[in-house]
Amino acid sequence: MKFIVDLPLAGLAKWLRFCGFDAEVERLSPGFPQNLPPVRPHTYLLTRQQAFNRFRREDLLILAAAAPEGQLEEVVSRLGIKAGDLNLLSRCGQCNALLVPLPREQAVGQVPEHVFHTQEQFHQCPQCRQVYWPGSHLRGIMARVLEKMA
Ligand SMILES: [Zn+2]
Repeated sequence: MKFIVDLPLAGLAKWLRFCGFDAEVERLSPGFPQNLPPVRPHTYLLTRQQAFNRFRREDLLILAAAAPEGQLEEVVSRLGIKAGDLNLLSRCGQCNALLVPLPREQAVGQVPEHVFHTQEQFHQCPQCRQVYWPGSHLRGIMARVLEKMA
């Protein structure tokens, strides 16, 4: 599943990436329908602009929630996304690049000391070098989203 996310929803794009989904950010303009990305299988356009209503594209989801967490919950429930569809910590929230495993000994000095001592697994973004680990602050929000999928 792939998402093209309207620019003001960049925060949502970050969460989708944390869930493992390919999420590109683009400015979507209802005034220029010819500029909208073409309909592609398993690809959804996400926006909050009501003006998109008139296009009646099935791949276009107009979200109501103002906050990224609420928007993520809407996407999950409207598309029927299940916990098994997620691939947590596989993509960089900033770059959308696929993370690569970082050997533990190489994480020294790249993460806070208490994190190094309490975590076993680390992943790194090949583009921005950001290091991710499962115990990071994302966990609370992801847990809330996963609860709603049950
Ligand atoms: Zn990155």
